[in-house]
Amino acid sequence: MGDAVALNVVILGPPGAGKGTQAERFARAQGLPKISTGDILREAVQSGSELGHAVQAIMERGELVSDKLITGIVRERLDRADVSAGFVLDGFPRTVPQARALDEIMVGRDPLIVVEIRVPDEELVRRVRARRVCHSCGANVSAFSADPSRAARCEKCGGELVSRADDSEAVVRERLRVYWRDTRPMIDYYSGRTMFQAIDGAQSPEQVRHMLLTTIAELAAGTGTATQPEAQP
Ligand code: AMP
Repeated sequence: MGDAVALNVVILGPPGAGKGTQAERFARAQGLPKISTGDILREAVQSGSELGHAVQAIMERGELVSDKLITGIVRERLDRADVSAGFVLDGFPRTVPQARALDEIMVGRDPLIVVEIRVPDEELVRRVRARRVCHSCGANVSAFSADPSRAARCEKCGGELVSRADDSEAVVRERLRVYWRDTRPMIDYYSGRTMFQAIDGAQSPEQVRHMLLTTIAELAAGTGTATQPEAQP
């Protein structure tokens, strides 16, 4: 890759904003690793590891795991060689201390591009209640947009579709409360930066995908970042 500048992207947004789906697509299109702290923690819970035991109850209540624990996981992940051309972070940072820790991890590396996907609360509750995930492969499905006759099975692998344990209405409202309390101040932490931009997430996934791509390209170009995200056909 020579001395091309890495595309280091953080996608922020409340639960249900579509950041997981968008981060996944963007990362795949650019050939970058997507690092989702929610996925890492869910895998730990599923595997029954020590970490999984430590975080399961916290996640089921819709609360945040400790800054120290999650920052350690991310620090280790960003030390791996596969992030040399860049990465897409999804679900981290979520608090001001996590954002500060990330800035510290990034010292001496190429700059961070931070994009927030914004969606009104009531739309988020509606979306999250409709969300199903595949029990086998973990794919996300929106029950509202899916064909009802096929909604019971995953389109990718035929696995059973289930609600996430933390997607009930009470837990969603708690996650939104936590978001406004802990995560909004972190967005204020980034909002003055030239490498930060918010986009409107209350549009179709296709429109959001397009806007995300354009926004990241503009932010990368604005700082002379050599590696540009490539437009998708
Ligand atoms: P997500 O899939 O990003 O919504 O994350 C699911 C759950 O994992 C959250 O509700 C938290 O309990 C936990 N979690 C994920 N990322 C973080 C983080 N950066 N800080 C604290 N807790 C997190």
